[in-house]
Amino acid sequence: LKSKLPHVGPTIFSVMTQLANEHNAINLSQGFPDFTCPASLIERVNFYMKRGDNQYAPMAGLPILQQQIAAKVDNLYHLTLNAAEEVTITSGATEALFCAIQTVIKLGDEVIVFDPSYSYEPAIILAGGKAVHLPLITPDYHIDWEAVRQSVNSRTRLIIINSPHNPTGAVLTADDLQQLSQIVDKNDLFVLSDEVYEHIIFDQQSHQSVLRYPDLYQRCFVVFSFGKTYHVTGWRVGYCIAPPILTSEFRKVHQFVTFDITTPLQYGLADFMKSDPQHYLNLPRFYQQKRDLFCRLLANSKFTLVPSQGTYFQLLEYSNISEQGDVDYAKTLTVEAGIAAIPISVFAKQPIEKKYLRFCFAKDDTTLTKAAAILTLL
Ligand code: PMP
Ligand code: GLN
Repeated sequence: LKSKLPHVGPTIFSVMTQLANEHNAINLSQGFPDFTCPASLIERVNFYMKRGDNQYAPMAGLPILQQQIAAKVDNLYHLTLNAAEEVTITSGATEALFCAIQTVIKLGDEVIVFDPSYSYEPAIILAGGKAVHLPLITPDYHIDWEAVRQSVNSRTRLIIINSPHNPTGAVLTADDLQQLSQIVDKNDLFVLSDEVYEHIIFDQQSHQSVLRYPDLYQRCFVVFSFGKTYHVTGWRVGYCIAPPILTSEFRKVHQFVTFDITTPLQYGLADFMKSDPQHYLNLPRFYQQKRDLFCRLLANSKFTLVPSQGTYFQLLEYSNISEQGDVDYAKTLTVEAGIAAIPISVFAKQPIEKKYLRFCFAKDDTTLTKAAAILTLL
């Protein structure tokens, strides 16, 4: 068999989690909480499973869940959606990203991605497209919009943005979205906006969703994840919001990827959204406390850091500790010190000049304290 993805192996998330498990290391690599979701959410899902809601859901999602999502978007971003025509429930954000890329990209199309970037490229390659990698500009990992303008050509079809940003924790500003808007309007492009960390943003900043900009939204697929918001990454439920014309094309793909999403989970999530709309509003404080704890505990370590602005990841720079490249150092740290993290060079096409690892702080305070004690001894 000739591989369609010859340069792709198991993701770094699988590799590091497996290594962490083999060595009984504290796993701060793959991004997932080590605490559970609200008990009432589990109760609601249980209720619907026991009631017998265990058959196919409608292909685009349960109407009551689509409506709860539309109500939330109205509240938070002041955009009125047609829930039935603009909200599609997906198998995590991962499926939404994959389907959006298959919907838009044809053979030879170019997609602009910003490095270091999450794993969008395999889906682009499978669609016959080509990723054009533009580096984010250090030290704050901002987008060079002039470089974007220069990279756009007649083959460019899509720009993928991600804010709050995995792995750097950078966030886009209103000015960034204005620049994006001008470029996509002028060149007739689409946008895939990965906003899975919409509620995990710090220091009183407000998330700049593309949904806040009605003109820009007309060209967007916007992707979200219940896994991140309700601490249930293993449930695999997310959603894609897009204008009706884009959504109807998106659903042509979605219906043949997974068709629909687990029915009792959708009912339970809809109930929970309705009964506890404060839950996600508390997330910035909840995770900022964890970020601050982790950073404070590392103040006397040899790592250097700039506090993350969003997501539940913190980059640590380790050049005072090791000469190794980040992939090797991540392995050494797991095997010898018992702490697993993610090397960030794997998120970028160009070599990353400094030595960074990404640590997930979506962990109980006791886990963070234990991990920081080990890291401080290095
Ligand atoms: N996008 C980003 C930026 C992510 O960090 C993740 C998961 N860590 C995803 C998408 C995928 O989310 P899900 O687990 O809902 O598929
Ligand atoms: N998005 C998660 C992370 O960045 C991993 C998701 C996965 O393993 N598929 O850690």
